[in-house]
Amino acid sequence: MARFRLRAAPPPQPAGAAQPQPTGAAPPQGGIGESLTRLAQTAGRPSLFAPSAFVKRVDCPQCGAPKQLPSTTAYLYCDHCGSLVDYDFRAANAGSNSGLTNTVFHHLLAPVQVHLRLARAAGDVGRYRQLYAGVYAAWLRECPQAVSPRARNDEQFRDGMIRYLVESTVCKDFDAELSALEQHLNIAISALRRIPRGAEPWLVDVGIWPVAERFRQFMEATYLRLEAAGVLALDPDESPPGIPLRMEYSTFCQAWIPHLLPADAERLLSGFGLHAEYTQVAVPTVSRCCGGCGNAMVTLPTARVVVCEACGRRVDVAGGECSCRSCGALIYFPAGVTRLPCPACRALTLRT
Ligand SMILES: [Zn+2]
Ligand SMILES: [Zn+2]
Ligand SMILES: [Zn+2]
Repeated sequence: MARFRLRAAPPPQPAGAAQPQPTGAAPPQGGIGESLTRLAQTAGRPSLFAPSAFVKRVDCPQCGAPKQLPSTTAYLYCDHCGSLVDYDFRAANAGSNSGLTNTVFHHLLAPVQVHLRLARAAGDVGRYRQLYAGVYAAWLRECPQAVSPRARNDEQFRDGMIRYLVESTVCKDFDAELSALEQHLNIAISALRRIPRGAEPWLVDVGIWPVAERFRQFMEATYLRLEAAGVLALDPDESPPGIPLRMEYSTFCQAWIPHLLPADAERLLSGFGLHAEYTQVAVPTVSRCCGGCGNAMVTLPTARVVVCEACGRRVDVAGGECSCRSCGALIYFPAGVTRLPCPACRALTLRT
C-alpha cells in the first residue's frame, strides 16, 4: 500500500472547493475515477481508468507473468503465484470506501496528534511507536480493507501489517534528512496555484513539476532508508523489490491526474514510469472454490497460488482440489492449511 499518503500535508483549498485534496494522499471516494474518465474522453482515447472488465497492464516481478484477471480491490495480486504486483488507485476509489478509511484514520490520529508531536520533539521513539501502534491497530480493526484483502481474516497478517506500518512511520519521522525532504515537498505543494474550472476539478499550474520532483526525491530517500533499516523486510505482503515505491508513485499520480490536462497527465505518468494502460480481459478462466470462505474464485488454468478476493486468504491452487467427505464440495485449501471447516457444510475437512 502507499503508506505515506496518510501523512502527507494536504494542500490548502480554495474557499468553497468541493474537490478532494490530492497530496499523494488518497482523496475521498468518488470524483477521481469519474474526472479521469472525463479527461481521458476529452483526449479522444480509451479511458485511462477503464471499467472492471479491464485489467491494469503490469508484469509480476516475482514470476514474470502478466496480470490478466481483473481485481475487485485495489490490491493486484499475481494470477499465477499470488505475489503482490501493484496497487490500482482507480480501484481503490471506485465503489470502495477509501475516502471513509482516510477519514477514520484522521479521526483516530487527531486525539494523539499533540502527544506525537511532543514525543517526536523529545526524541522519544518508544512513546511515538506506542502511540502509532494504537492508531494503526484501531484503524485496521475498523478498516481492514484499507491495507489489503488479506487483512480481513488473517490475524497474523494484520499484526504484521501494524508492525510494518508503525516501524515505517517511526523510521521516516525520526530521520532528519527525510524530514527535510518532506518539508521541501510540503513547501512545493503550498506554492501550487490552483485554477478553478467551474464544476470540473480545479487545475494546477506548472508548480506540479517541482512537486512531482520533490515527491520522488522524498520517496526514493525514504525507501532507501527503510531498506537499510530492515523495515521493508517486515512487509507481511513480502512485496517484491520496487513494488512499494511504485505504489507510492501510482497513488501520487492518480491523486493529481484529475487536476491536470490530459497531456500533462501523460507526462506525469511516464515521468514515474507508470503505464496507465488497461487491457481487456480475454483469457480462459477456471472457477475454483476457496476452501477458506466458499467464494468461487475466477482463476487462470495455470495459476499456482491466488489471493481470494472475498476473504483475502492465499489459496494453494497447485496443491489440487480436495473434496469434503461430508457434503462432497470440491475446495482448494489455503496455503499452509491442512484442516478446515468445509465452507459449505462446516464439517471438518482434511487436506488429501
Ligand atoms: Zn507471479
Ligand atoms: Zn476465500
Ligand atoms: Zn462439506
